[in-house]
Amino acid sequence: MTRRGERLTLQPVPEVREIETDDDRKNYQRLVAGSSYAMLQHTLEWRELAVLTTKDEPHYFILQDQGEITAALPMMLRRTCIGNAMTSLSLPAGYGGVIVSEKLDHAEKLAAYRTLLNAAVEVARANDCVALSICTPPFRQVVELYEPLAPEYQTENFFQYTALRSPRFHKSTRWDMNKAAKAGVEIQSVTAMDEVLKIYELYVERMRSVGGGAALPRQLVENLFRCIQQKHIECRIAYYQGQPAAGLILLRYNKVCDYYLAALNHELRSTCAMTYLVGRTLADYEAAGFEYWNWQSSPSRRCGTYAFKAKWGTAEGKHYYLTKILAKAAFAELKLDEVKQEFRWFYIAPYTAFRGGEAYATKNKYSFANREADFPSMVLVETANVCNLKCPHCPVSYSEIKHTPSFMDLELYKKVCDEVAANQSYLRITGDGEPLLHPQAAAMIRHACASRLPLLSMNTNGVCLEGEVIEAIMGVTGTKVIIDVSLDAIFKSSYQKIRLGSDYERVMRNVFELLSQRKRLRRKNIFVFASIIDQPEAAIELETFRRFWEEILDRVITRSYVDWKGLVSKTKQASNFVKDRWPCLLLYRRVTIGAEGQLRFCADDFMRESTVESVAAKTIKEIWQGSKMNKIRELHQTGKFTKVHPCDTCKDWEVLKWDYDYQVAVDAVIRGKQ
Ligand code: SF4
Repeated sequence: MTRRGERLTLQPVPEVREIETDDDRKNYQRLVAGSSYAMLQHTLEWRELAVLTTKDEPHYFILQDQGEITAALPMMLRRTCIGNAMTSLSLPAGYGGVIVSEKLDHAEKLAAYRTLLNAAVEVARANDCVALSICTPPFRQVVELYEPLAPEYQTENFFQYTALRSPRFHKSTRWDMNKAAKAGVEIQSVTAMDEVLKIYELYVERMRSVGGGAALPRQLVENLFRCIQQKHIECRIAYYQGQPAAGLILLRYNKVCDYYLAALNHELRSTCAMTYLVGRTLADYEAAGFEYWNWQSSPSRRCGTYAFKAKWGTAEGKHYYLTKILAKAAFAELKLDEVKQEFRWFYIAPYTAFRGGEAYATKNKYSFANREADFPSMVLVETANVCNLKCPHCPVSYSEIKHTPSFMDLELYKKVCDEVAANQSYLRITGDGEPLLHPQAAAMIRHACASRLPLLSMNTNGVCLEGEVIEAIMGVTGTKVIIDVSLDAIFKSSYQKIRLGSDYERVMRNVFELLSQRKRLRRKNIFVFASIIDQPEAAIELETFRRFWEEILDRVITRSYVDWKGLVSKTKQASNFVKDRWPCLLLYRRVTIGAEGQLRFCADDFMRESTVESVAAKTIKEIWQGSKMNKIRELHQTGKFTKVHPCDTCKDWEVLKWDYDYQVAVDAVIRGKQ
């Protein structure tokens, strides 16, 4: 308030408008360069990239005070046949939001946020936008400043980062880096587009082979190198004997390096080139004065991508997606599949906000493909329920298991095998016993290979992996064959403690004979895996086991130790029994057919408590789609685990991860080899 007689001085009110002139552009770039809130995505280079790649319409709001731009909010508008929307995120990793001059005090900052957000909302409304969204940047906890937006949706997302000045890498990364260096892997920074595109092609191939999400478009990568100044972007390639083995595309700005795109040549993965490339690049960026390496987000904290990043001593940060709905009725009409099509790389709201979004989210969360609603993607067949070993980690070695020793009838096996082949699913010979003890094991392998199965996988302890069995495996077939040998130790001394009753030399001889025959006969359809259980007796040799067999075989599988519902009880298995429990993936992906023909919904059920029905009179498909299976799935999906036995007392579900299980490993190997 002004007292009477006091002279009134009018302070100029900051003006809000959109960037128009060359002077505006210069002043805007000056603001970006001087703001610690700013990221590469705020620059005008990024705007050029977005316009060139998406054809979206830029609306860059600025707040000007006495000729100086003190705050800004860059936004993009997309017009589509299902409605228009405005966002700060119109490209992958398109973080954005308000940036302010460092000169503003807190009250001025708050006022700047309010003014810019109101201006953006007004323009979005004038352009018939159904919603306006903002993705706040990482490393800057500013979500409270967006209160004036009053968003209907506020979604938290995590990202992983490594603080470059105090990295704490897992020791395996050092080993892998040394291995790559000894193998002669060399790193180069490349600028030529044809070299960059080699990395892009590797990335696309890798995404395809592991069944990852949609790859970034090639045009985006080309435009990145066209629009972004060289000092803000780098492509590094690790070469092995002249071939690109791994590559990275990095964005760098304001002391942060963003891990934008990574590509691995699967054929050369044993060179550890990716680890070497990342390790060397982290060190170089730290030496160049960068503070953070932003690994960005991962699909979940349980996936392999998250684990790979975690090896680099990552911490987690969070940022937010905020959505203001501007036209409620029109927004409510939006269907998710149409939104995905019209608003690619353009964030509007969480998927669950749209029609069909809840169902998609459930399916996506658990990777429940449509095909699996029809038929299990893998059928486990227990051809024998007897074993020649007495391993301490296996319930079959304990007296609680009292079922009658039996071998599956060959005709029943053929019926199962033919149905699996007709549905183009995977068949895995495994179960509670050693499959190669079956007197007709070789005939079973031959039948599977003749039945047009896409994949036959067999688990064995390797003792009887010889003679007629190897001949059957080597038969010419279009079926891919995986022989998965449970070795469980690398050294003879520990092997003898874990694989009681086995013969170390014989098993080794058999594995190497299998490999030698495969090489001699050039059988590219045969893959050999070795597996080890992470149990106390083998704990110190896990890494040696992995490193040794990865050089020789196609895949090393490390299995978590489970107590098989208490049958084996020396366990220190995690006890996260109820909290965050998820529906068991076995119910959606696999079934087991026991030696007597009973279909069990649980592959880990040594006590036969999950028996549903016999496949002698019904097909697997009928039982899989039947009311009993659906009821069990429904109980899991609604969290009523205690109403399903043996799931009510089970802890084994914890090691069954939706985004990484045996089938993912199998797919990665067989597709990567194609
Ligand atoms: S929750 Fe346990 S008992 Fe139930 S299907 Fe999964 S592993 Fe088997």
